Amino acid sequence: MSEKRYDYLIIGNSTAAIAAVEAIREVDRAGTLAVVSDQPEHCYCSPLITYCLAGKIPEEQLDYRPGDFYEKAHVDTILGAAATEVKPAAHEVVLADGRVLGYGKLLLAIGGVPFVPPIPGCDLSGVFTFTRHEDMRRVQEFIDGNVVRQAVVIGAGMIGVKVAEAFAHLGIETTVVELQDRVLPLALDQVGSQMAQHVMEEHGIRVLTTAGATSIGGGSGKVQSVTLDTGSRLPAQIVVVAVGVRPNTALAEHAGISVNRGILVDDHMRTSDPDIYAAGDCTEGFDPLLGETRPIAIWPGAYMQGEVAGRNMAGQDDGYVGSIPMNSIQVCGLPTISVGLTTPPEGAEVLQYKSPDGKRYRKFFILDNKIVGALFVGEIDRAGIITGLIRDGKDVSSFKQSLIERDLGLLALPKHYRKHMVSGPGIEV
Ligand SMILES: Cc1cc2nc3c(=O)[nH]c(=O)nc-3n(C[C@H](O)[C@H](O)[C@H](O)COP(=O)(O)OP(=O)(O)OC[C@H]3O[C@@H](n4cnc5c(N)ncnc54)[C@H](O)[C@@H]3O)c2cc1C
Repeated sequence: MSEKRYDYLIIGNSTAAIAAVEAIREVDRAGTLAVVSDQPEHCYCSPLITYCLAGKIPEEQLDYRPGDFYEKAHVDTILGAAATEVKPAAHEVVLADGRVLGYGKLLLAIGGVPFVPPIPGCDLSGVFTFTRHEDMRRVQEFIDGNVVRQAVVIGAGMIGVKVAEAFAHLGIETTVVELQDRVLPLALDQVGSQMAQHVMEEHGIRVLTTAGATSIGGGSGKVQSVTLDTGSRLPAQIVVVAVGVRPNTALAEHAGISVNRGILVDDHMRTSDPDIYAAGDCTEGFDPLLGETRPIAIWPGAYMQGEVAGRNMAGQDDGYVGSIPMNSIQVCGLPTISVGLTTPPEGAEVLQYKSPDGKRYRKFFILDNKIVGALFVGEIDRAGIITGLIRDGKDVSSFKQSLIERDLGLLALPKHYRKHMVSGPGIEV
């Protein structure tokens, strides 16, 4: 028998969950609503935790919404309590402390879990993953309580690069080890990666690509080194494993909900159970460019999915059109954005421009006169316009040359499209 029953129960307290709260409250101010999270913190921005570790921003700046957010939205918060079981037939969720909560509609917004490869030594003290507030605190405490001169970060994806940047900022001699032939391999091409690697090296970070970590060595239970497949040994007093995040599907699987690589949802973000929705990194999102579902672990996608889930939970009929994959990463001050496909599909025309000083680079994949992928390094101010062109499937044949000309601006676009992109009182384009 449940302790309390809510009209809307949300498991998770991050991007997708907050979007759902906001969407539900736009439609239904009165229904009872609760958020359950296994983390004790107020909702926070996970992309900022490396900046906080580096001391570049204070902890208060991590907050995703103001302190009175839940109170104003009439949301009960059950924080620091993991949901351990979902019982779809009873419409109940069991928490780790034994409490049982009932629901009318349930949202799983439980994100992703870091993947830890079976490298011997991952269990040593001083080896961390880095996706949560508590990881930041544990790493901070470890650095404060130990002599940490050298760090190894395994993986040069979004999280690995940001952690390395934070370590270097703290004065720790940092090496990033990446199995692929370049940094940020999922977001950037060879040229963009080289630019990113160059700026990382300028900031004192050593980058080893085409290098695999085979074991982590230690003494007295603490990490001391990382051994690579080349045989070389890198001394390290701290190691962060950042080789990827996978959809968190365990709760759904145990509840008998359909799962593939992520939790399966329809275009209303409804799972195989009609009263259970899922949104964000735990799902397989729809990628309209590939016309298929796949895990897309990005902030904007999680927000949009949460919004759609919330509206539908509250009784509206709102379809999700899919998220255009987008990686927006600042690497040691170098802004980069990739939108849509990151490798050219067969038959695509590739347009690119690199400034003579080598500091700005952009590249487009055009298929059937439509942009299907774009990459910006060093200058990103027009990325929003291009994202709109990709999302709208706009025919760019009349102005595609302007895309790579030096000053890509609104004026390069046809007038009717400028109006569509930029409109509002007093705006003349
Ligand atoms: C360091 C870092 C940098 C990043 N940088 C970027 C970036 O630059 N750009 C970008 O687009 N994305 C970035 N991301 C990814 C982005 O943060 C995620 O895509 C986004 O937060 C996903 O939101 P979500 O709500 O789906 O899941 P999450 O943010 O993972 O939240 C999941 C929530 O579920 C809760 N939860 C999980 N299991 C349970 C359970 N059993 N019981 C109760 N609660 C549970 C968690 O506590 C959490 O509140 C970054 C992530 C990290 C960690």
